[in-house]
Amino acid sequence: MVIAIRIDIVGGSLGGLSAALSLKRLDRTLDVVVHEKYNAIGYNHEGRRCGEGYEIEPDWNHWQPTERSIFNHIQQIETIVGKKTYRAHQPPGTFYMLNRQEFICQLARDAEGLDVEINTGDKIHSVDELDGEYIVDASGCPSTIKKSLGLHQGIVGSTYQQTIEGCNWFTPHVIKVIFFDASGYYWVFPRDPKKREINLGLGIVSGHHQNLKQMLEDFKSYHQIEGTVNYVTGGLIPAGLQRPLRHRNILFVGDAGVGTFPLLGAGIYRALLSGEIAAKCLVRHRPEQYPYKIYQAFIKWEVLGKTFLHMSNVLGHIGKHALFAFYHAYLDVWYSSH
Ligand SMILES: Cc1cc2nc3c(=O)[nH]c(=O)nc-3n(C[C@H](O)[C@H](O)[C@H](O)COP(=O)(O)OP(=O)(O)OC[C@H]3O[C@@H](n4cnc5c(N)ncnc54)[C@H](O)[C@@H]3O)c2cc1C
Repeated sequence: MVIAIRIDIVGGSLGGLSAALSLKRLDRTLDVVVHEKYNAIGYNHEGRRCGEGYEIEPDWNHWQPTERSIFNHIQQIETIVGKKTYRAHQPPGTFYMLNRQEFICQLARDAEGLDVEINTGDKIHSVDELDGEYIVDASGCPSTIKKSLGLHQGIVGSTYQQTIEGCNWFTPHVIKVIFFDASGYYWVFPRDPKKREINLGLGIVSGHHQNLKQMLEDFKSYHQIEGTVNYVTGGLIPAGLQRPLRHRNILFVGDAGVGTFPLLGAGIYRALLSGEIAAKCLVRHRPEQYPYKIYQAFIKWEVLGKTFLHMSNVLGHIGKHALFAFYHAYLDVWYSSH
């Protein structure tokens, strides 16, 4: 009798479901079990935690959201620093405002279609509860598993956001990013066009002491942004790689290991891609290759993002003019290459 190899995945969101789906796509004989602490996949607290902007590579067809999982197709990104606005046009089919809850459900349905076992209401406190040959930790930030093992995470920022319905700042198909003088930015994302709904938020990597809620309220009143706030959330944003990426037979994916790109987010893309990379290493029984493969995929963005953060911190202390001059120089290069 052949005993199937079992892989336990902690967390049933983007990173966990990407790993589960990729494992089963590569080897149907694997026994893949996803443990999700909430009673529902997607439609839980984590399901609406995020701003939901999702940019993908044009040829990344297997992670395309269905129409049901899309609020808005993004055609233009505007980045504003001081009085200057940078505009980049997006190729069709590469940037979406996700209905993230639906997207997670879409991934879960696909995974169940490939016989992945998804256990909800199943909170894992320690890896000792799991008997799989390999474990994928996709429990987000802060990672429960890293905490239970006494492992630390890297640089973590924070965010606060509101979803505002009937909003006078709603512009379909356009994302706005507005930099301010404290290593962070505001964003305006168009959500449901029928409700003229936006997601307005800010993220900050330094200056944790700042009152983000008050900053957002000040921003709204300065720009006279009006509408009904129907959803408020916030949380931690892991900026860049959250080493270690592997510990014994455990691989850390998504926010638990790979985090977001310190400059512009992309946590969704990074969670999906790292889940896929973890799966490829595990089907080959080469977990030790995972950190190296992750470096190959993300090191360029890691260096770029960390340099950006470091410079922002230093120049932020010198003053707003120095910081904005740096942002302009950076964005001139960035936008001329896109
Ligand atoms: C406010 C905010 C706005 C953001 N905006 C964007 C954006 O616009 N675009 C973008 O690309 N990224 C954005 N991000 C980042 C993005 O949300 C994350 O990078 C992404 O969700 C990471 O996915 P993940 O699967 O690793 O973790 P998560 O989505 O955090 O999922 C972790 C899962 O693990 C489960 N879990 C946790 N602990 C346990 C346990 N002990 N046992 C079992 N299950 C457990 C949780 O319930 C959850 O389902 C944002 C983040 C925040 C906080």
